[in-house]
Amino acid sequence: MSLISDNLQAVLTDIQRVALDFGRSPEQVCLLAVSKTFGADAVLAAAECGQRAFGENYLQEALEKIELIHRQMTDLVLEWHFIGPIQSNKTRPIAENFDWVHSVDREKIAQRLSEQRPSELPPLNICLQVNISGEASKSGVLPNEAVAVALKIAQLPRLRLRGLMAVPEPTSDEQQQRLAFRHLKQLNDEIIRQGIVLDTLSMGMSSDLHAAIAEGSTMVRIGTAIFGSRNYAK
Ligand SMILES: *Cc1c(COP(=O)(O)O)cnc(C)c1O
Repeated sequence: MSLISDNLQAVLTDIQRVALDFGRSPEQVCLLAVSKTFGADAVLAAAECGQRAFGENYLQEALEKIELIHRQMTDLVLEWHFIGPIQSNKTRPIAENFDWVHSVDREKIAQRLSEQRPSELPPLNICLQVNISGEASKSGVLPNEAVAVALKIAQLPRLRLRGLMAVPEPTSDEQQQRLAFRHLKQLNDEIIRQGIVLDTLSMGMSSDLHAAIAEGSTMVRIGTAIFGSRNYAK
């Protein structure tokens, strides 16, 4: 577990350095620790170092982890972000148990989340996922649909649209990585020009966080670089 604290510190230092290199303030880039496939012990080790925002992809696994941590550490307030694929019949537990959802990829899912968000909770924070590289197998709205869908989601009463999210096609070429992220930022800027207040660009993972920060990311989603490699195919 001391490894997690070392890794976390290294990632935070890296974010800070890259932000400064590109003339950005390090506070503009939040770190979302992606704890999928890792247990409650790993989340608690990161939380002990001050990390509060955690990202999860698999609903059942996440619900068990959230419940276990809540029972063990009643006073610890963590922020839970759902970042995985969403089936429309599974929206209710997401609306009830998460603070953010980054993987909204169609209007219908957004409508259900809005209807199912409990009234005693604040509006659910939303990022619209964009299939920025136009890959056939990837979830997300197509780039040319993103602005129209975002404008509709922004009207839903129990949601707060915060910005866009993308997982570009993997490439080790940093210039290619930057092109995809730049495109996402342009779409985000276009939505802002249409009068919607957005403050989040959810982009960058362990292997492309430098490119993402260079292009304006405000939230990097980092799993492997903090918790190590995932030992099953999830
Ligand atoms: C798993 C995952 C991450 C974290 O990826 P790493 O390469 O382990 O940093 C980020 N975003 C999404 C949507 C993921 O599914």
